[in-house]
Amino acid sequence: MSTHTCTAGPKGKTRPTLRSSVSNSVGRVLLFGPAAVPSLAFVLAALVAPGIVAQAPPAGAAQGRGGRGGPGQTVEKIRMLKPNLYMITGGGANTLVRVTNEGLIVVDTKNPGDENFTRVMEEIRTVSASPVKYVINTHHHPDHVGNNQKFIDSGAKVVALDELKSRMASDPRTRDIPGLPTDTFSKQTVLKLADAEVRLYSFGRGHTGDDTMVYFPDAKVVMVSDQITDATPIMDFANGGSAVEWTQILDGVLKLDFELAIPGRGEPKTRAEVQAFRDKFATLISRATAAIKAGATKETLASQVKTDDLGWQFQPQFYANMYDELVNRK
Ligand SMILES: [Zn+2]
Repeated sequence: MSTHTCTAGPKGKTRPTLRSSVSNSVGRVLLFGPAAVPSLAFVLAALVAPGIVAQAPPAGAAQGRGGRGGPGQTVEKIRMLKPNLYMITGGGANTLVRVTNEGLIVVDTKNPGDENFTRVMEEIRTVSASPVKYVINTHHHPDHVGNNQKFIDSGAKVVALDELKSRMASDPRTRDIPGLPTDTFSKQTVLKLADAEVRLYSFGRGHTGDDTMVYFPDAKVVMVSDQITDATPIMDFANGGSAVEWTQILDGVLKLDFELAIPGRGEPKTRAEVQAFRDKFATLISRATAAIKAGATKETLASQVKTDDLGWQFQPQFYANMYDELVNRK
């Protein structure tokens, strides 16, 4: 078993939305006007069912284990994706590094642990001696936020969605991890540093309720995080995740001009692969919708929806949550 911690967890308590402070307190960060973003039908689906969801044990187990065990558990060598844009796999989720002559922007900070942080910085130092100015988190799971505090201590600001901050503070798997975001935003924002521009979008709820798509327009690269997976996709329903909004996020991504989409784990994807994943997910939802229309119940839905040809194997609880989402959708 790997230390992958992108699993559904205990139900987190909902907190009031924190207001954006990004535009005020981050020197060169500006908020988008509505006209500058793709038009989105933002569906506020009814909140998910009250049942506790656990597709895997709560993953406190994974925290702080900077082990040298199986593949992917240790931080790998930095790789160039495009000029001034790099990827570091292993040690948790994929990390991106955008290099500018005024400093660095880092996306996601891996599983908690001194070894992971030290190794990430060693790799970064092979391509730049500049300080890390900004960290962006794609969602609140431990393998994405694990070393935020160490970057903050080194002088970086951590930029994330309002909901990410509140869920990181409440989710039992992350509430003891230091390094809550220092600068939050509500729907989208753009971060500028020297010649770099990074656009951050919340297109809806999917893997969690605090997913951010991180887009580098000059490089035509978008970090889609765990919204694209090589294995069965996971919805952290207890933390705002959603099956019915999943394709909405990918539709938002597909409106961007990109060549490479970077998943939370695994290798970069092409636009065609993102489109194919989106279509597979849409197939799943339409099959489930049809099954319910034909009389499937919360209990029988799992046996009424074909997924083997999609290559996905969901837990029974997934179907119960998807059932609730679909019947509550108007
Ligand atoms: Zn995750």
